[in-house]
Amino acid sequence: MKKLLTLTAIAFLTLTTALTQCSSEQVAQKPHNELTSRSIKTTPLTPADTSFLKAWKSTTIITEAQVKQCGLERLFTSSLIDDATKARMMGKSYRQDCRVPLSELRILRIVHCNAQGQTQLGEMVCNKLIAPKLLRIFRKLYEAGYRIERIRLIDEYDADDLRSMADNNSSCFCYREVAGTTKLSKHSLGLAVDINTLYNPYVFTRQGRQQVQPIEGAAYAFNRNQRSNIPYKIDHNDLAFQLFKAEGFIWGGDWKSVKDYQHFEYDAQ
Ligand SMILES: [Zn+2]
Repeated sequence: MKKLLTLTAIAFLTLTTALTQCSSEQVAQKPHNELTSRSIKTTPLTPADTSFLKAWKSTTIITEAQVKQCGLERLFTSSLIDDATKARMMGKSYRQDCRVPLSELRILRIVHCNAQGQTQLGEMVCNKLIAPKLLRIFRKLYEAGYRIERIRLIDEYDADDLRSMADNNSSCFCYREVAGTTKLSKHSLGLAVDINTLYNPYVFTRQGRQQVQPIEGAAYAFNRNQRSNIPYKIDHNDLAFQLFKAEGFIWGGDWKSVKDYQHFEYDAQ
């Protein structure tokens, strides 16, 4: 008992000392803090304002001045799944039966060139194994001016892949089965990425009938090799195909039994 009391006393003393040190540091920093906050209040918003970095929201368009002000390093980042992102995913892309721990996933905050060639913010959840690969790929695509219409979390569509595809959204992680089967898709592991999905649909046969997903993309599903009138078309000459291939991904457009033109997947084995 006596020993316990002594230990408690030591702990109390240590804590008091630590608190004193903290407050003295705060006092010492006070004039500096006041200066900083005053200058923030009086600085008007400029075209190079970087406040969007903290409140990152996909589909926001930023100016060239903002890109310059930030530098590309801060526009292509990978982070652990934070609480706010987790709340958005739960019960949607991240189901209760999900066998992939959240700690194995990452959220990428990246920019891309939208349909009009403007710089647009995007968000993508993926497996940590491919996060560095995807950052390299999307950065090169952006630098080359490659057009991607939107990169939003599939949770924005209540994890409904058909709605996401019909909106030409590009995404990665979603815990789901391969369409029409009970097999888990590579998207369930965050190891597959779909790009410009409306114009690069998924074509497969079920019970003898050819099907296209999304159905809105049927006009872009056939005779693709002969056609030059497909926007955002992914084929062997396409930069996205070449960059994903160079990072070790397989393209669904090369499959024989089905054709998944939007799909790149990574085999982690
Ligand atoms: Zn896919």
